[in-house]
Amino acid sequence: MHPMPEMGRLGLAFRDAALEQAFQAHYDEQYHGYTRAGILLGLALYLVFGVLDRFLFPEVYPSLWLLRFGVATPLMLVFVTLLFLFHGPRISQVLTAITIVIAGLSIVAMIQAIPVARENPYYAGLMLVIFYAHSFVRLQFRWATLATVIILLAYELVVFLLRPGTPLNEILAGNFFFLTATLMGMVTSYIMEYDARRQFLLQQNLAEERNLLERANRRLNEINVRLDAQAHVDELTGIPNRRSFFEHLDREWRRQLRAGDEARPLALLLIDIDYFKRYNDYYGHPAGDRCLKRIAGLIAGFAKRPGDLAARIGGEEFVLLLPETDLEAARELAERLRERVAEEGIIHLDSPVADFVSISVGVASMCPRPEVRPSELVHMADRALYEAKRGGRNLVASLEVGLA
Ligand code: GH3
Ligand code: MG
Ligand code: MG
Repeated sequence: MHPMPEMGRLGLAFRDAALEQAFQAHYDEQYHGYTRAGILLGLALYLVFGVLDRFLFPEVYPSLWLLRFGVATPLMLVFVTLLFLFHGPRISQVLTAITIVIAGLSIVAMIQAIPVARENPYYAGLMLVIFYAHSFVRLQFRWATLATVIILLAYELVVFLLRPGTPLNEILAGNFFFLTATLMGMVTSYIMEYDARRQFLLQQNLAEERNLLERANRRLNEINVRLDAQAHVDELTGIPNRRSFFEHLDREWRRQLRAGDEARPLALLLIDIDYFKRYNDYYGHPAGDRCLKRIAGLIAGFAKRPGDLAARIGGEEFVLLLPETDLEAARELAERLRERVAEEGIIHLDSPVADFVSISVGVASMCPRPEVRPSELVHMADRALYEAKRGGRNLVASLEVGLA
């Protein structure tokens, strides 16, 4: 058997009090149904056996019936009723054990009441009670053992003290059978409880492992989400990166394609800082980084609507993707952005076009069509940007759709 370090006292109690309590609650939850059914069946059999009293002992059966139906049955009914009214880790066990003790004691009392040497059938009845206590009703080992020991002591009291005439052979036979039955019953209830405890532990471990697994999974998901977010964010500026832009472009492109005849134009601003290499050379790379962050912040401020996206797609190149925006509106926005960057007034003494950092913007806008790839929009914006650079920089330029 697999060793259970959690088990103390012969394996029939967990060392950890909380675990023991949990087991008891679990046991009651699992078996109180069996216990109730078992006790009802036992009670019914006990009543039926009254027939034997009548036929085996016609001369004394009234006193046997008085014991069986007049004393034991009402008492047992009280405890059975309680058993049906309450259930809980200890109460079910105790009530069941008491009911069994009453049945056993009543049979011992009947043995006392009938003529010496004719009580064999009641010995058999007592054996049934012993087996019943240890197996039928799911009594735990300690309660079943306690109940049978009380019944056995009562039997010894009867044969040794109250009934001096009992022949030795009868006493010997009775003790042999009862002690053996008790021993076998104890082994049975021991094994059953041990197994119940083992199963309980296995279940607990399983639940614990499942918990751990779930936690690990959640953690993994969080990491994945974070990694995914990281993969879409530009490290320096904190705005979406190139990959994010192309995914977004694809998504918006397909969304407009799905709209069919209702498709609206998709506008793209390609933004490049003018003479940025000179800025770097003049002010140093760290200053260049700070400048990039400021410009990124300005551009991001222009992505206002839900589908808009500002991203950094290269060293000093940015984009602004604007769904449902025609060329005219996109041009206006680009002009405002160019002005906004100029207003920012980031000093650039080495720039041939201005005293401050300026941008050139290439603007394009088109209605997505199935036969055109989204990269076409980028090419158009790129060519427009080229025009803006060629035109002198710090400019906005656009290509008419027809020229694409
Ligand atoms: P143009 O007006 O034609 O665009 O000239 P430019 O100097 O801006 O263009 P070019 O492509 O020659 O130079 C881009 C420079 O951007 C080169 C590099 O030093 C700088 N750069 C690229 N990435 C970074 C970055 O992450 N940090 C900094 N500080 N500089 C960068
Ligand atoms: Mg460039
Ligand atoms: Mg540049």
